[in-house]
Amino acid sequence: MSLYFTFSLMQKSQKIAIVGSGLVGSLLAIYLKKEGHTVHVYDRSPDIRKINFSGRSINLAMSHRGWKALDAAGVGEKVREIAIPMEKRAIHLVDQLNFQYYGNNGENIYSISRGVLNRKMIDLAEEAGAEFLFEQKIWDISLSDATLHIGETERGEWTDVKYDIVFGADGAFSRIRHRMQRQNMFNYSQEFLNTGYKELNIPANADGSHKLDKNSLHIWPRGEYMLIALPNLDGSFTCTLFMPFEGENSFASLKNQEEVAAFFEKNLPDTIDVIPNLTEDFFKNPTSTLVTMKCFPWTFEDKVALIGDACHAIVPFYGQGMNAGFEDITILNDMMQKYGNDWKTIFAEYENERKPNADAIAELSYRNFLEMSSKTADPNFLLQKKIEKHFADKFPEKWIPLYSRVTFSNRPYSEALAMGDFQDNIMKEILSIENIANIWDTVEVENKILALLEND
Ligand SMILES: Cc1cc2nc3c(=O)[nH]c(=O)nc-3n(C[C@H](O)[C@H](O)[C@H](O)COP(=O)(O)OP(=O)(O)OC[C@H]3O[C@@H](n4cnc5c(N)ncnc54)[C@H](O)[C@@H]3O)c2cc1C
Repeated sequence: MSLYFTFSLMQKSQKIAIVGSGLVGSLLAIYLKKEGHTVHVYDRSPDIRKINFSGRSINLAMSHRGWKALDAAGVGEKVREIAIPMEKRAIHLVDQLNFQYYGNNGENIYSISRGVLNRKMIDLAEEAGAEFLFEQKIWDISLSDATLHIGETERGEWTDVKYDIVFGADGAFSRIRHRMQRQNMFNYSQEFLNTGYKELNIPANADGSHKLDKNSLHIWPRGEYMLIALPNLDGSFTCTLFMPFEGENSFASLKNQEEVAAFFEKNLPDTIDVIPNLTEDFFKNPTSTLVTMKCFPWTFEDKVALIGDACHAIVPFYGQGMNAGFEDITILNDMMQKYGNDWKTIFAEYENERKPNADAIAELSYRNFLEMSSKTADPNFLLQKKIEKHFADKFPEKWIPLYSRVTFSNRPYSEALAMGDFQDNIMKEILSIENIANIWDTVEVENKILALLEND
């Protein structure tokens, strides 16, 4: 048990429901059980520990913020057992392979299968004493008395179960949020990308070893589309192909197995030998959508609160969705320690602290999508990245790259966004220097950056 919990004052025990046994719902259950509450976790799906989830289980990159929340709950070590450290990106260009280390200080991000992690989190939450109720669909909630309406179908009979507090951890298309949306002054926006994703698989070698470097996040960047592969413990890699739905290089343009094979041979040639079931999986596995969803408020009085994707769904190009959801729990727990049984203040402080940071990581994730899809071939952008890297290697304490601020730090996302914008403005001035392409690594340019940094 972490010191955090050992020294905190126990809250008055409440009867709490969590809707959603995903990653955020099950970690939240552990935190609430440690505070002595009665915790029921509902999910509309069958118990994920009893089903086969192949074809839909993406891999996630766990980073600093995720580990912080897991460690404080005392379950970090258990999760590390199912995680593979990735120390670098392996960038597969059409004719060469480059490696880029994530940090100068041996920092890693960690590959975890979402399905395997979810199973583990439910086990850990059950061990902590939470009760899980699967195949229970929540259709609605009465906000004023935290009563869940549960039933087989939307128009059939419902059972009502009243709680002291309900958390909506029911993902991007949350029913709990759906009810809150009908309140006055509830702001909501949802935007789909015209890019979707599909899972593919690189199986293990016959001896169980990995076919590609195990400690890398593999990326095949191709402008508007991109393939990534993250390692699994069994020697395989889970690949995700991100691609526009329509257009020249799109899911719609690849109409049959021959076209898929020819496309991969031409554009992703080093995948042909390692993805044996490419053409079957391409048509068997679903194509899924990507959405950014923002809303506010996230809470209703001292009765109901949204958490995780239910209040901030973001596109996955910074690898932060789950990490941000876990950080929600860190902040909620901070407020619980600070305000004891005053749930109204706990909720108000929680949403006020988190909302600007959720907006910031949504913005950063969207910008990363634009960067990957449109800027990777832009010579100015590539020059900027080269100068930044050169400067950061020489003055690591003066130039912390934006990626590190987001991934390897617990400082607020909004601060990372502001610092990123400040650095970007400096680089705009640097790129406007005459003949910069030839003098980018000179002392003159370094001194100019140092001078501009002084304006901070
Ligand atoms: C392609 C892709 C790659 C990603 N990569 C990363 C990454 O590298 N790193 C990272 O940090 N994040 C990543 N994410 C984001 C991450 O997957 C999500 O942020 C995270 O899973 C959200 O967890 P959650 O528990 O809030 O919601 P969910 O995982 O959506 O869980 C919601 C749960 O609620 C249940 N539910 C929904 N409605 C009801 C209802 N009416 N009644 C009962 N139960 C209900 C669902 O069955 C589900 O179990 C990625 C996402 C995608 C799509």
